[in-house]
Amino acid sequence: DAVVIDGNAIARSVRQRVYDEIKEIQSTQTRFNPNLVIVQVGTRPDSSAYVRMKLKAAKEAGISCEVRKFPEDISESEVLEEISVLNDDPAVHGILVQLPVPRHISETKVTNAVVIDKDVDGFGPLNVGELAKRGGNPLFVPCTPAGVMVLLKESGVKIRGKRAVVIGRSDIVGSPVSYLLKNADATVTICHRYTNDLEEIVKSADIVVAAVGIPEFVKGEWLKKDAVVIDVGINYIPDASKRSGQRLVGDVDYPSASKVASLITPVPGGVGPMTVAMLVQNVVNSAKRSYAAQDKRHITPLPLKCLKP
Ligand code: NAD
Repeated sequence: DAVVIDGNAIARSVRQRVYDEIKEIQSTQTRFNPNLVIVQVGTRPDSSAYVRMKLKAAKEAGISCEVRKFPEDISESEVLEEISVLNDDPAVHGILVQLPVPRHISETKVTNAVVIDKDVDGFGPLNVGELAKRGGNPLFVPCTPAGVMVLLKESGVKIRGKRAVVIGRSDIVGSPVSYLLKNADATVTICHRYTNDLEEIVKSADIVVAAVGIPEFVKGEWLKKDAVVIDVGINYIPDASKRSGQRLVGDVDYPSASKVASLITPVPGGVGPMTVAMLVQNVVNSAKRSYAAQDKRHITPLPLKCLKP
């Protein structure tokens, strides 16, 4: 059976590292105060749950975090105005717009509105463009894809030269994961809803990343023996045996896949906890960069030697 990748433990160590780093910086620089603002439009219960998780993780890491909630019917221009105010506020180091936003608001417009050096979700066009480039230099990598890469690295998976298949091509997960794997020298195939012969393609993969949004979609029989399987899916399915009446499963059929894979992430406890860990990491990196830039600006130039009249 596959070795289980413990996302909870790996995420905990990332968060601990961020906490230690903040404490260490504050021991010499007391005004260092990393600050994240989460913009939430509407009251979707799943969004509220994610926002609560992010808030908790940020606070635990020593990051100030504020959630700005807006009613479902707020106009797009008001959201854009709010983002613009946050862009200009030097005390804010990270701005995250919780997605999805209501349909009358353009997701592209709001994610594009966040200034690049506060775009801790990494969804803005400059960060995405840099991420896609060979040898590009994004300021922030989207959190879930970054978490996938940390899981692979911490599990000792060699990526160079490997065949990776990413199922899903969303801007949030599938596409950025494929860029990261490509830049890590894997040979990457991206599959999506119009892909023919999906099972055959998956069979060729040394590394499979499933980000489809269909419960237990990828079956064990599709996998090559000893493949590494990263399951990004978060799906609730009915389960009468649970008090809540539902159960959380991934996009991979875990019971069959874990018999074939060499390494596999469980759901819950795999990729999920990495997302918030990478977010706190992005916020502290942003704060460090912002303080370093401020310090540079504060260097007082030497007085000019003027000739006395
Ligand atoms: P999405 O709906 O935006 O994208 C799904 C992708 O799957 C699309 O590119 C689509 O073409 C592809 N797809 C759909 N049906 C397919 C099929 N039959 N065969 C092959 N490809 C198919 O979803 P998303 O935002 O990328 O999220 C994917 C999954 O990851 C969801 O379960 C979501 O809940 C989960 N997710 C988890 C985290 C986390 O923190 N762990 C973060 C974001 C999303």
